[in-house]
Amino acid sequence: MPVRTGAALRLDPVTSSPRHLATLTYIPPMTDSCLFCKIASGAVPVTLIAQNDHAVAFRDIAPKAPVHVLVIPRRHIPSIAQATDQAELGAVAALAAEVARQEGLEQAGYRVVTNTGEDGGQSVAHLHFHVLGGRAMGWPPG
Ligand code: 5GP
Ligand code: ZN
Repeated sequence: MPVRTGAALRLDPVTSSPRHLATLTYIPPMTDSCLFCKIASGAVPVTLIAQNDHAVAFRDIAPKAPVHVLVIPRRHIPSIAQATDQAELGAVAALAAEVARQEGLEQAGYRVVTNTGEDGGQSVAHLHFHVLGGRAMGWPPG
């Protein structure tokens, strides 16, 4: 069978453009400007609650409930919209559940939420799950 050259190597202008790759697959490494990257690396001190290979949990500086813990991936991921690694995402979710157990929230219940983008009310552009408990949560959220 003859080997075809040229056509198979041509890049699709839509799916292979640098802009497309930048928006869909590029996750920036830890940056000096990301507060939660600094927390994950230990450069900014926090009250550490728990950690695993992929994630770190610490108390929110301005708690919105008697228990308010943030769970973040060690790696810089801007939000859940850019999270593609299922093992990493699973480790973040598992740590959130472990924090709730550790904080004694399991029986009464609790809420895990990740604000995403402007309408979601996200203020720090590094993926984080809020673990909130110790009081009854309202629904729908504001
Ligand atoms: P978001 O608004 O992005 O969903 O959540 C960001 C959270 O980070 C807020 O609840 C805010 O109180 C918390 N936060 C912001 N800066 C710091 C900090 O320096 N240390 C800690 N522990 N939490 C912070
Ligand atoms: Zn970051």
